[in-house]
Amino acid sequence: MLDIKKIREDFPILNKKILNNKNLIYLDTAASAQKPKVVIDEINSFYSNNYANVSRGVHTLSVESTFKYEDARKKVQKFINADSEREIIFTKSATEGINLIANSFASKYINEGDEIILTVMEHHSNIIPWFLIRDRYKCKILFANIDSNGNIDQKHFESLISEKTKLVSITHLSNVFGTIVNQEIIKLCNKEDIPILLDGCQSAAHIPIDVKDLGCDYYVFSGHKLYAPTGVGVFYGKENLIEELPPYQGGGGMIADVSIDGATFTDLPAKFEAGTPPLVEAYGLGVAIDYVNELGMSEISEHEFRLTNYALDKMQELDFVDIHGANKNKHSIISFNIKNVHSHEVSSFLDVEGIAIRAGHHCCQPLMKHLSLNSTARLSFGMYNTEDEVDIFINALKKCRDFFTK
Ligand SMILES: *Cc1c(COP(=O)(O)O)cnc(C)c1O
Repeated sequence: MLDIKKIREDFPILNKKILNNKNLIYLDTAASAQKPKVVIDEINSFYSNNYANVSRGVHTLSVESTFKYEDARKKVQKFINADSEREIIFTKSATEGINLIANSFASKYINEGDEIILTVMEHHSNIIPWFLIRDRYKCKILFANIDSNGNIDQKHFESLISEKTKLVSITHLSNVFGTIVNQEIIKLCNKEDIPILLDGCQSAAHIPIDVKDLGCDYYVFSGHKLYAPTGVGVFYGKENLIEELPPYQGGGGMIADVSIDGATFTDLPAKFEAGTPPLVEAYGLGVAIDYVNELGMSEISEHEFRLTNYALDKMQELDFVDIHGANKNKHSIISFNIKNVHSHEVSSFLDVEGIAIRAGHHCCQPLMKHLSLNSTARLSFGMYNTEDEVDIFINALKKCRDFFTK
């Protein structure tokens, strides 16, 4: 079992008082996780002691910087159990990772009339890059439906697959429902030989990841939801697949030779890392990975799963609360509405109690339209949350209902 009290001492921001001296209750980790002191300190130390550009010089600082950057890549490789460091590309975010694969993959494999399958519950970051590809290559984007539990409707998904399907790109753990993709969906893609990209923004932060066990071909996530700094993300692709793909962006650091007639490109992973990379941020991600590994990703996952079910049970007792996709295949994220109260009012009310939750469309407008909702309120857990905080949250929901409806 995790010592949550001790963990909380690692996160300086949790001491912050909100508005009228309320203790901060941070239930918005799905938007971004708070940072442990070790990550904040190590970033500071890197800038203070080791900083220079990477892979560009032979002087001491450049060598130290490069070592730290490449060491972070090894940590990411182990964290998601990839075969090789060559499969780990640092990006500025998951969003950039999806844009990378969309552009690179499409320029090689997508022709007019081809089809790419998403689901209606994708984050805009896993929709808009494909819309841009659709406009450029005249391909089609198909959206798989979801069932009332917030899981992919498997029958519908299957019915969308044809010889025109070139790629499937879906969220591994929904940022609205907290539901996790059924392994059958991935198996089906493997069986049909269709490459599959998992958007791992939420899953990387909440469940142990093994990209080989999962059977995905591509996987992306952002550092900032995994207790790491903003400005760094990871794109993973199977080596034999991404070796065949052209670069996404051009610039320094990714060339073998350039003349005024043209250029040849370096090997993986540098081929996909044009320009000065987010090297300090990547280092910070490595530190965050060490931090969660020390506690144990499985232990963190179990703690958050327990909290989720604890909150779910309490919320289901409240007749004025609608929970979206209430079921047990749910991890760390619960979307809900208080009947007849707008989610923004709920969030503002809770803020006065010191409680931070998210309200809005969660960058999932197609899903909101599918559910015939304008917005939802969403609470989400990180390793630092406690049952006591859930109790305070539940009480605040009752107060909120009374305030707005009595
Ligand atoms: C946060 C999130 C994204 C976008 O991540 P960025 O860090 O903003 O690039 C994409 N998909 C899901 C499921 C997310 O939760």
